[in-house]
Amino acid sequence: MTKKQQRPLDRASLPLHGGLDAGERDVDSPVVRPLFQSVNFIQEVGTGEGMRYPRYGNAPNAEAVQRRMAALEGAEASVLLASGMGATACALTALLRPGDHIVASSWIYGGTRAFLEQELSSLGVEVTLVDPLEVRVWRRAITKRTRVVFLESPVNPTCRVLDLKPVSYICKQKGIALVVDATFASPINFRPLEHDADVSIHSATKYLNGHHDVLGGIVSGTAPYIEEVRQKMMIWGQAPDPFAAWLLERGLKTLDVRVQRHNANAMRVAEWAESCKEIRKVHYPGLSSHPDHAVAKRTLDGFGGMMALELAGGARAVDRMLRKLRVFQHAPSLGGVDSLVSEPRHTSHAALSPRERADAGIPDGFIRLSVGIESADDLIADLEQALR
Ligand SMILES: *Cc1c(COP(=O)(O)O)cnc(C)c1O
Repeated sequence: MTKKQQRPLDRASLPLHGGLDAGERDVDSPVVRPLFQSVNFIQEVGTGEGMRYPRYGNAPNAEAVQRRMAALEGAEASVLLASGMGATACALTALLRPGDHIVASSWIYGGTRAFLEQELSSLGVEVTLVDPLEVRVWRRAITKRTRVVFLESPVNPTCRVLDLKPVSYICKQKGIALVVDATFASPINFRPLEHDADVSIHSATKYLNGHHDVLGGIVSGTAPYIEEVRQKMMIWGQAPDPFAAWLLERGLKTLDVRVQRHNANAMRVAEWAESCKEIRKVHYPGLSSHPDHAVAKRTLDGFGGMMALELAGGARAVDRMLRKLRVFQHAPSLGGVDSLVSEPRHTSHAALSPRERADAGIPDGFIRLSVGIESADDLIADLEQALR
């Protein structure tokens, strides 16, 4: 991998071998990278150069994950932060100054929305939220002061898939940075930089780690830009602990097999759900009934493990079902090996009225599934018995 003229690795191998350091495969090297649970490293006398400190993002375990993620995303560089929110906050503040303007999709993670509306506004950045399906609306919202366009795809919790092409075209024309949160897809299914985005963000808490036991976030882009994000991370104290980086490297090794299984399981569950009379509607981009099926087929390498169901019996039916589930666990968050179910009206969309939720495509009776890697037959049987 470090020798020249070698065949480039396939996508599935990058989470295990991407971004290897020289000497990592020498005789006697450990197959598993040791955890350097140390915040201090001995420094050269007479210079501040090369000083290591985990908050600076240059501790050995974090650096290994950063190189690997850059290889996986096809980016010049990546930086690992303490959470997905830390990643979004540092990625955006590295691009925006007081007086600047950001145009963002209104279909975004609740924490991101709070960051835009509460924090960025107080930093003197003007924020405009738009309906992401209307390219004309994007174009109209952009002003001379617009520096960033932000969107999330696939979208939580409706699993809408946005076409980056018309948006990236406008951004390129006007010299605006396009920042994309692709957490729902994981880099196995979708790599925004390949679709002309400038910056890709992932909550590593979800698919990248995949085991419900680590908080983290990744930002990828050009090397000079990632250096700016790293500066924000240092100052705001958003760097991860070494152990989180070590666990994340371990989780990453199985990323491809996990995501393939999530994709296959979710497809099976979605097909079953479409034929189930207790379920009024299934939101899954892999189904031809999904409004963005064509975009998803063209731009994603897999349809993912996330889906939403609308139960015919509304909120009461949801309550009854959630109490009966045995394999699916009622918990927020997503992207791990265990199947989870959540009700957006009590989590991400709790601040909205029932009417506002219905307008946003989330009527009562709506549940979100994070389909795990259990047997698809067990998952379907669990849903079936809970709906009976
Ligand atoms: C969870 C999530 C985040 C925030 O990530 P944390 O690791 O919880 O801070 C951001 N964006 C999306 C799409 C998410 O699902």
